[in-house]
Amino acid sequence: MGLQTTAIHAGESKEGGAIATPIHRSSTYELGEPETFDDIRYIRLNNTPSQRAVEEKLGAIEGGSALVLPSGTAAIWVAFATYIRPGSVVLAPKRVYGGTRKILDDMQARHQFEVRYVDLADPTSWDATNASAFYCESLSNPWLEVGALDKLVEFSKAHGLVSIVDNTLLTPVHFRPLAFGFDVVLHSASKHLNGHSDLVAGVLGATATKIREARILANRYGVCPDPQMCFLLARGIKTLPLRVRAQTESARALAKLLSEHPRVESVSHPEFGAPTTRARTADFFDGPGTMVTFAPKGEGSAKRVIAALKLPVEAPSLGGLESLVTRPITTSHAGIPAALREEMGVREEWIRVSVGVEDCEDILTDFAQALEHA
Ligand code: PLP
Repeated sequence: MGLQTTAIHAGESKEGGAIATPIHRSSTYELGEPETFDDIRYIRLNNTPSQRAVEEKLGAIEGGSALVLPSGTAAIWVAFATYIRPGSVVLAPKRVYGGTRKILDDMQARHQFEVRYVDLADPTSWDATNASAFYCESLSNPWLEVGALDKLVEFSKAHGLVSIVDNTLLTPVHFRPLAFGFDVVLHSASKHLNGHSDLVAGVLGATATKIREARILANRYGVCPDPQMCFLLARGIKTLPLRVRAQTESARALAKLLSEHPRVESVSHPEFGAPTTRARTADFFDGPGTMVTFAPKGEGSAKRVIAALKLPVEAPSLGGLESLVTRPITTSHAGIPAALREEMGVREEWIRVSVGVEDCEDILTDFAQALEHA
């Protein structure tokens, strides 16, 4: 089955003839004669019907099993706590989403593991000494760069590391990490997977054995999603391919407009950025995604352009129906000390655009007029 068919039909119970799978709000279920601990159904044990339904859908989409968690941040934390051996080293990119950087630094400060920050583009610099895991983003937020993911998978297999990838920006529409060779994929499902900017959720995808390990840990520490959120997420996923394909086309058109615009200093987009990113995008992915990061020319110009935009709101998320803009220094990388931000290469004048499903012409017209104020 194709991705769009799977997104619609997988995990739908059709109980009582219902086309839309109902929400099961009950927090607990009649015990009966449980054979194992897993048969005890309770929301905190991550096993009640609304969660199972959305996990079946996500498992089918990812090509493995899935665990839904209360946020993307929770998915990252649960992945680290489950798959990085205590006291070992995790390799992670220098250029990574700010929230992830904070979790890594925090867990390191609590002596749970050591982080070795690496350049994802330079496999010759990677050192696996005492390492147990390798973490990365398939498309980095907000640089929109693509690392040597094929080499990362090879390196991880050769050194017995668990390879973990955050695929939030690309989504399964453009990249299937488990088929590519990664051990674990994760998402902030608050973004494209749900796609309607009305919930916060996360997901892990991996083999059934690996997901079971993560589920046991999540159960133990009380990390569990609400049934209402599971229902909404399953509903959102049904249109994932339709939305993402439309957004991708508009993002490509916007990147082209920006790259040819005299008032634009730089543009990052997987098909318009550095040659290595362009080549890897063509080799690894089925498309470049829905995001564009750019810098207008001149000091203070980012703020002026954002103020002049009529359609996109400035807000700290991505992947919804509506176009959104942010300045990474005030959102995804706020709270990271300025010197470290500088070292990570997060620029002052950057505007990150999450391209929505509005009519493409309207989006382009709006950016063209706003750039007149740069
Ligand atoms: N991963 C990436 C790439 C993100 O951009 C974000 C949030 O912006 C997260 C993870 C965290 O997700 P959440 O906000 O659902 O906790």
